[in-house]
Amino acid sequence: MNKINHWVSGSHWEGVGSDTAPVFNPATGQQSAEVVLAGDEDVNQAVAAAALAFPAWRDTPLTRRQNIMFEFRRILNDRKLDLARQVSAEHGKTVDDALGEVQRGLEVVEFVCNIAHLLKGDYSEQVSTAVDTYTIRQPLGVVAGITPFNFPAMVPMWMYPVAIACGNTFVLKPSEKDPSVSMMAAEMFQEAGLPDGVFNVVHGQKPAVDALLAHPDVAALSFVGSTPIARYMYETGTKNGKRVQALGGAKNHMIVLPDADMDLAADAAVSAGYGSAGERCMAISVVVTVGDAADRLLPKVRERMADLTVAPGDVEGAQMGPLVTKQHLERVAGYVDAGEAAGATMLEDGRGLVVEGHEEGYFIGPTLFDNVTPDMSIYRDEIFGPVLSTVRTSSYQEAIDLINANPYGNGTAIFTNDGGAARKFQNEIQVGMVGINVPIPVPLSFYSFGGWKDSNFGDHAIYGPDGIHFYTRGKVIISRWPDPIHRGVDLGFPQHG
Ligand code: NAD
Repeated sequence: MNKINHWVSGSHWEGVGSDTAPVFNPATGQQSAEVVLAGDEDVNQAVAAAALAFPAWRDTPLTRRQNIMFEFRRILNDRKLDLARQVSAEHGKTVDDALGEVQRGLEVVEFVCNIAHLLKGDYSEQVSTAVDTYTIRQPLGVVAGITPFNFPAMVPMWMYPVAIACGNTFVLKPSEKDPSVSMMAAEMFQEAGLPDGVFNVVHGQKPAVDALLAHPDVAALSFVGSTPIARYMYETGTKNGKRVQALGGAKNHMIVLPDADMDLAADAAVSAGYGSAGERCMAISVVVTVGDAADRLLPKVRERMADLTVAPGDVEGAQMGPLVTKQHLERVAGYVDAGEAAGATMLEDGRGLVVEGHEEGYFIGPTLFDNVTPDMSIYRDEIFGPVLSTVRTSSYQEAIDLINANPYGNGTAIFTNDGGAARKFQNEIQVGMVGINVPIPVPLSFYSFGGWKDSNFGDHAIYGPDGIHFYTRGKVIISRWPDPIHRGVDLGFPQHG
């Protein structure tokens, strides 16, 4: 059985513990590997390696750090298909979709290839006689990232390239469900010239995360995952004196107004609802129709659903792969049962789908409900599967109020041809990322990504300018050179001049 070890001080390391967890191929239901699980001692060693590497790395010239990032970017780009295949084999998403996530991660690396420019401070000459004031941004030290299963390549790359380019050293705790791609990235980073100990990977579950949360040498934590764990990370990490950003779950709504281009809206609903089998934090899970829009939209959605190919992610032409685990498949199917029992109208039922030759795979077909109401669990909870709910509203204001009352606020979209309606939406909606005729509004790497409300705990979004801010601390310096005037003792508060 293939064993996936930690990566500490630039080499594979089995760790001191004996716990392991199985890793599955979701398309076959077969175990493909076992991953070692860290306890306190393993985490201590990884943090110690990162702490040891920090002083030299923070003093490494910016141009040298940039060169390593350029080289890392080149290697990632050359091997992106290998990375995508590995993502597909452990996550289940199609290779094409996985290539998309590798590309979006790679773009964050491209952003920090410009780190020398991004870390520039301000300078004001002569703020007082012979006095200048300037600012610098300095790295925090050892920082940790804890990431979810659904983007095993991209989400870690939202964090570690930015943190490392800023001069920090990093300990990544990826999802134990699809850990291999992080090990590939670690090897590629080493090949790019990154000194040992700057990037470390520990695998594990709650004990590993708790050890990072408690470790006095971990200065900051970035988390991406479900809302209950994000809240726990934020509360525990900040109580322990750490800087924390914790991005949580989502329930993304897409409003369709009666004047929308229904073909465009139907394409968007199907792509954003069923892409990656709905296992995206920016997936659309609720279509909110206004007036008679549902009657014109839903037949077009169903036509497109009929043409979708559900197959193992590495099969040519596959559009949707399996879910990540058997437990998750059972959970998603349970929500579909609950929606039906609660009286929602089932338009397309994905339960019971069998993919020939892959009977043990974790497949469920795309599912569509109409007449969903906010009290139903399929509306309230994040299902994280290919289940799209339609909520009908009678006015645009009712649709906006519905979204604003939802505890999540990650992404949202509106489909309309009315500029005034779109402007009202961007102005009033209580959500962090807003699409106008764009179903998945994920900002490119030179902006930052982050939701509102229960979708993000902390003050920072991730990557982009917020990422630079999160992984550095500002310092302001007030200097006087030379100072020929000896003014003597003055206990008064300094005044200008
Ligand atoms: P998860 O919360 O179960 O796990 C995330 C990470 O936390 C993993 O590394 C896991 O090992 C660890 N973890 C799990 N249980 C823990 C516990 N009790 N204590 C400490 N650590 C624990 O999430 P997941 O199922 O891997 O990923 C899916 C979730 O992530 C969805 O809710 C999705 O919306 C969310 N997500 C959010 C974003 C975003 O940008 N807001 C992006 C991607 C995914």
